[in-house]
Amino acid sequence: MLTLCLSLILLITDNSQITDKKENVMKFELIQLPYAANELEPVISKSTIDFHYGKHLQTYVNNLNNLIPGTKFENMPLEQIVAESDGAIFNNAGQVLNHNLYFTQFSPKGGGVPTGKLAEAINSTWGSFENFQKEFITAGTGLFGSGWVWLAKDKNGKLSITKEANGSNPAAHGLTPILGFDVWEHAYYLDYQNRRPDHLNALWKIVDWDAVGKRY
Ligand code: MN
Repeated sequence: MLTLCLSLILLITDNSQITDKKENVMKFELIQLPYAANELEPVISKSTIDFHYGKHLQTYVNNLNNLIPGTKFENMPLEQIVAESDGAIFNNAGQVLNHNLYFTQFSPKGGGVPTGKLAEAINSTWGSFENFQKEFITAGTGLFGSGWVWLAKDKNGKLSITKEANGSNPAAHGLTPILGFDVWEHAYYLDYQNRRPDHLNALWKIVDWDAVGKRY
């Protein structure tokens, strides 16, 4: 009888541990947009938001949640996964991080120029905001194939423009991402077809410099 009781207790304990473990596995969720899907028009159409956010980003989130259970990445922050992973986990984690930052850096009331410490750092690095914009667009236009152009900072706050292939992010080389323009065709093809430079130049009109400044 005692043995049976002990066995039952062990069985119950084991089951609860399994349940707890399952509940504790972190799931990445699709971020909420800080604007309605049509509010960035005409710079980014509702159609592009519906596909880019609703389909592409959702797929990266789903893929990541399917890939990480049982790996050392399952309870890691996204930036750390990007810094330490490779292969499919790196690609999907990178794209979740990229798009989370991308979609939260725009506002229907955006545009204008950066202010405060970020403005000072941009001016001291590139001479003026206009020079920075030119170099940023040149980098984004010149990136061959799919990828991202980022304004990033290092541990000392020093700014640089980085070109990232495919799903990479400045976090992969120890930098902090500040502002990112997506140059994958899915980001602009419905609205601008092949005219990537036109799309990149239009994005300045919706950049939310308050949100971006907080990342610096
Ligand atoms: Mn994208």
